[in-house]
Amino acid sequence: MFLNVTNKVTLLLERQMTILIARINSLVQTFCTSCIQQIQFTPVVKAVKRISFSVSVCKYHVTLNSELSVMSGSPAVVMRLVASAYRVAEKAGAIVRRVLHSGELGIVEKTGANDLQTLADRLAQQSICASLSKRFPKITIIGEEDLPVEEVSGDLMETGQEEEILHKPCPAEYRELKEEEIVVWVDPLDGTKEYTEASMCLRRQTEARTPHNRPDTSKPHSTALWLLDNVTVLIGIAYGGRAIAGVINQPFYNYQLGEGAALGRTIWGMVGLGAFGFELQEVPGDRRIVTTTRSHSNKLVIDCVDAMEPHEVIRVGGAGNKIIQLVEGRASAYVFASIGCKKWDTCAPEAVLQAVGGKLTDIYGNAYRYDANVKHMNSTGVLATLRNHEYYTSRVPQSVLQALKSE
Ligand code: AMP
Ligand code: MG
Ligand code: MG
Repeated sequence: MFLNVTNKVTLLLERQMTILIARINSLVQTFCTSCIQQIQFTPVVKAVKRISFSVSVCKYHVTLNSELSVMSGSPAVVMRLVASAYRVAEKAGAIVRRVLHSGELGIVEKTGANDLQTLADRLAQQSICASLSKRFPKITIIGEEDLPVEEVSGDLMETGQEEEILHKPCPAEYRELKEEEIVVWVDPLDGTKEYTEASMCLRRQTEARTPHNRPDTSKPHSTALWLLDNVTVLIGIAYGGRAIAGVINQPFYNYQLGEGAALGRTIWGMVGLGAFGFELQEVPGDRRIVTTTRSHSNKLVIDCVDAMEPHEVIRVGGAGNKIIQLVEGRASAYVFASIGCKKWDTCAPEAVLQAVGGKLTDIYGNAYRYDANVKHMNSTGVLATLRNHEYYTSRVPQSVLQALKSE
């Protein structure tokens, strides 16, 4: 059974044309020889820069169809969305840095002293939601912060798209997604508690500084600057109730380099495509390094972490930050046996983790859903791993499972 795939590609740049031809050639080499019926390249017409080709492939190679469509210059909606989310997250990261350096955080307590909102949370969310909904008006966007509906100032709008993402092949199953089928979960600033603590640390440093005195990094308050790495901006993309793509901006990445250094990085991933912007690493051997909350702990959290029989426990802020630790080989499992974490905390991290073969579930091992109408709270905890998920779910104590009863 053969499927005929014909594509016409119009390109504006000669360079892109060369890349495209190389790409087609390398794709063709991956087919079984029997499935290629014909490959025809029409001559390149200089003025229009147009190339046509026709390929016939067997049913096992129909995925080529989606690859060719990407190359034909019409990226799928979801790829355009991820490309926009990448730039939007970068802008939000810049806002988060700017507010920190202004020193005016405008802190508001939401449900209590460990549940805070700052000016950075508010501005970053406005920027993300307004920018994405302008370009993708039919997408459902759910942000963490409850903000009054108001006009967003022009300087908060981001219109760019990350070119490299537009050139990636969209996995076949997401190729035809429509805007109205997509839900975007936004955590404009994950790790707000740690952000406010790092800000206090910076303020003390500035106050302690005299013209002849460099900051004394041996003082305890100076060490709190590591908390800056706990902060992330999270944009998660869901379809059919599942997290399928995610963008994580870490605004203070490279903070150790000090004043004047270019700060920040953006990690992104898509299920079926892969994850980018970092080097995938695993914790060596069968060491169990558990990462968990530092500011929202309780007896259940501690009991559950202990039951994993970890060789080491790391207590840091932010769900995004903890997933970065998993994919960079600094932790083997993220264990949080408590309510508190919400869908906007886990959607982007789950997609990035899954894109590299990892898993994020509740402590029962059940997947969360990300449809527009789900409840926001992840009330049966979070368990995330790059490998050996079953080991960790099997170790959760009955008492903890009982206490966080699944609905
Ligand atoms: P943590 O690991 O404590 O930084 O938590 C990860 C995410 O879940 C952060 O966005 C927290 O704000 C949120 N979170 C976890 N527990 C709570 C809680 N008890 N109250 C409010 N937010 C929480
Ligand atoms: Mg959060
Ligand atoms: Mg937040």
